[in-house]
Amino acid sequence: MRFRVISLFPGMFSAITDYGITGRAVRRNLIQVELFDLRTFGQGEHRIVDDRPFGGGPGMVLMAEPIVDCVAETTQDLESKPKVLYLTPQGRRLDHVHVCELAEQPELVLLCGRYEGVDQRALELIGADECSIGDYVLTGGELAAMVLIDAVTRQLPCVLGNEFSKTEDSFTEGLLDFVNYTRPQTVAGMSVPSVLLSGDHEAIRKWRLKQSIGKTWLKRPDLLEQIELTEEQKAALIEFQGEHFASE
Ligand code: SAM
Repeated sequence: MRFRVISLFPGMFSAITDYGITGRAVRRNLIQVELFDLRTFGQGEHRIVDDRPFGGGPGMVLMAEPIVDCVAETTQDLESKPKVLYLTPQGRRLDHVHVCELAEQPELVLLCGRYEGVDQRALELIGADECSIGDYVLTGGELAAMVLIDAVTRQLPCVLGNEFSKTEDSFTEGLLDFVNYTRPQTVAGMSVPSVLLSGDHEAIRKWRLKQSIGKTWLKRPDLLEQIELTEEQKAALIEFQGEHFASE
């Protein structure tokens, strides 16, 4: 999968191209992250890319022409129009379903805004969809683009060391992940739940299911409203609730 990123600060992307699982995906050529410096497409000797907003008001706005020129040049080798996403707090909120949809694309062009945002005509001319990483405002789209690239990359085949880890992650089945423990067996007098040491795989699966559904009920009850629970999940939830109320 190829990400083409348009940004005034392409150097920021070393955070994902040089480190961790995304860095390994780059080195193994499972993803390509191509960075395009919007400044190169700026106007005049000083490569200007922004100007004051018409109608007044604070701050600067990224001009349409450098963006349109940059998108045209960065996608000229493609036969069909790629999906272009403008990262903006006004866009569709990124969630697991959206991430999985984006992971189906062979190419994504990501436009990172700065300042007060982007001239509206640029967005219309490049046919951008809009994507937000949450209801808060960042200083620029770069961190949002990196969040998107990281989340999409995890969904691609062969990226994770263990392909099963993403099937158990939070949100995959509409539930939060189960709780985890590792060595040592006792920390500050707190022991690992004995079932995890039992070697009984079916008992461990049932316990994890109960924890997963119980934690979802406690932390994100809105998620439970969006899915149809199986009979086993309903029974696990009732058991978890019984234990929870008994311990209060
Ligand atoms: N004036 C804009 C508004 O209120 O919608 C916010 C501009 S923000 C200071 C500058 C840039 O950061 C935006 O153009 C966008 O690319 C990026 N950005 C800020 N918050 C974001 C978010 N929650 N998700 C995605 N991108 C965001």
